[in-house]
Amino acid sequence: MTETKPPCPRCNGSAALMSAVRAAEIAAAVPIEPSLCADYAIYRARLERCASCATLREGVLCAWCGCFVHFRARPKAASCPHPAGNRWQDV
Ligand code: SF4
Repeated sequence: MTETKPPCPRCNGSAALMSAVRAAEIAAAVPIEPSLCADYAIYRARLERCASCATLREGVLCAWCGCFVHFRARPKAASCPHPAGNRWQDV
């Protein structure tokens, strides 16, 4: 299946993005109630799916929702917004 690459819905590609390392550091510093937070292994597996996704921008930004994936992947109840289906479904 060929995936289209929509522009970022927030900045249309014009924003200077932070590095993946910095995004992960900031996301880790944001407090989340532990019972609502995904296990670290699940978080890492979600980010691996993002890393292989054609719509990931600059290693940090999901072009489908405009989220920094390091933040989106942290809550236990989070899902991937890919229109072809949740790429995190089985992780
Ligand atoms: S959240 Fe889903 S659609 Fe967005 S970059 Fe990650 S895998 Fe791709």
